[in-house]
Amino acid sequence: MVDIHIAYISVGSNMGDRLQNCLKGIASLTEPDKSRVLAQSRIYMTEPVDYEAQDWFINMIVKLETAHDPFQLLDQIETAQRVAGRMRDAIRYGPRILDLDIIFFDDRIIDSERLVVPHPRMHQRRFVLKPICDIDPTIIHPLLKKDMQSLLDRLEEDEQRVIEYQ
Ligand code: AMP
Repeated sequence: MVDIHIAYISVGSNMGDRLQNCLKGIASLTEPDKSRVLAQSRIYMTEPVDYEAQDWFINMIVKLETAHDPFQLLDQIETAQRVAGRMRDAIRYGPRILDLDIIFFDDRIIDSERLVVPHPRMHQRRFVLKPICDIDPTIIHPLLKKDMQSLLDRLEEDEQRVIEYQ
């Protein structure tokens, strides 16, 4: 029997055809008999955080069912980002064609050099919390022991504008 896992992936782009980049990125994580998308959030336009002199992002979250382990999933993510044309980042938190992050992997806690799960900044980011609440606001963060809706409610309203994409 193969183990099946649930991963939540944050998908973002702020260069080129941002929506197409995100959709192609999601498609590249799916594989017959291995990985499929169980749910997708609404699509958002989000204000850049950390490094503000750049275009707004398109962001969404997908819930993925996968037979891969977390490191195999990270390999896939790195390949997908490379195929999309992403170079080594010139600026930390700067513009990117495709950004895929593992937010949760079941309720595993991973703290390795290559991979940190839950994603260490997810609870501070409206562009992660807002779309994840579209899928399931009751998910409990395995370290903070708080649900997604209460983490979202804790963020200041005037910071990090997140607007639904039409
Ligand atoms: P970023 O520029 O934010 O996409 O970071 C990419 C790097 O973060 C990669 O080299 C990954 O090895 C590392 N990383 C650590 N934790 C995660 C995670 N939860 N999801 C994706 N990448 C991660």
